[in-house]
Amino acid sequence: MDLGIAGRWALVCAASKGLGKGCAQALAGEGVNLVITARGAEALEATAGEIRAASPGITVRTVAGDITTAEGRAAALAACPQVDILVNNAGGPPPGDFRDWTREAWIAALDANMLGPIELMKATVDGMAERGFGRVVNITSAAVKAPIDFLGLSNGARSGLTGFVAGLARQPRLAGRNVTINNLLPGAFDTDRLKQGFRAGAVKAGLTPAQLADQRRLQVPAQRFGDPAEFGQLCAFVCSVQAGYLTGQNLLIDGGAYPGTY
Ligand code: NAD
Repeated sequence: MDLGIAGRWALVCAASKGLGKGCAQALAGEGVNLVITARGAEALEATAGEIRAASPGITVRTVAGDITTAEGRAAALAACPQVDILVNNAGGPPPGDFRDWTREAWIAALDANMLGPIELMKATVDGMAERGFGRVVNITSAAVKAPIDFLGLSNGARSGLTGFVAGLARQPRLAGRNVTINNLLPGAFDTDRLKQGFRAGAVKAGLTPAQLADQRRLQVPAQRFGDPAEFGQLCAFVCSVQAGYLTGQNLLIDGGAYPGTY
């Protein structure tokens, strides 16, 4: 299926690895020009090289910087001639016990997983509406629907973003001008972050990281972790012309792990 977005420009945040990279690769495969960001220049340039080799017909620009800061966001926006597609993403907050979290820890989580994405939407959605096309995808987490106790910073900050987006997406001045805003909620995906979690959790569980990974894998009805490439394909579809009537939604992609009917 031709997704009808070739020649558009996408800003994909935090895209040198993992889910952000999966989104960037899938959009590139549809002929979308990219601005990709990440904190570390080396991995970012390597990813840009991979994408250029796989999709030689598009332009890929890189911006190394911290997307949770005003400077990082300004640099990313400046590199993009116009943002037709915005994929909001950043690292997730650290795990822990809420008794240990300071105000600073909460502000950092909010900057990364709520206020940063809101600032980028503020900078882009009205321009999208003027041009009559826009797609915003926020990468959040399955934890928005089924909270994970020790990821309280993530549960809280991402729920704040989710509540805000539910209202924004339904503004007729956006939805009525072909601007859609949706959240993708990943379950367990095979990325560096997941592996890091197994390394950290293994000691506590008295297991090796591989044993803990096997245990977790079997808890997923699909009996496997997600592949960032399939996450990217869903992102590309949500950004397609065909998905113009899909807005304000929270789309779980978790191999059936969420146990509820709705
Ligand atoms: P990852 O560690 O594999 O990749 C993270 C990417 O984000 C890297 O490219 C890194 O350079 C970049 N990045 C991190 N912080 C940044 C910042 N401040 N500014 C710019 N770039 C930054 O992680 P992932 O697994 O792809 O996770 C992406 C998001 O999805 C995270 O917020 C994570 O919490 C969330 N998530 C992941 C999973 C999973 O199973 N992988 C599940 C639920 C939610």
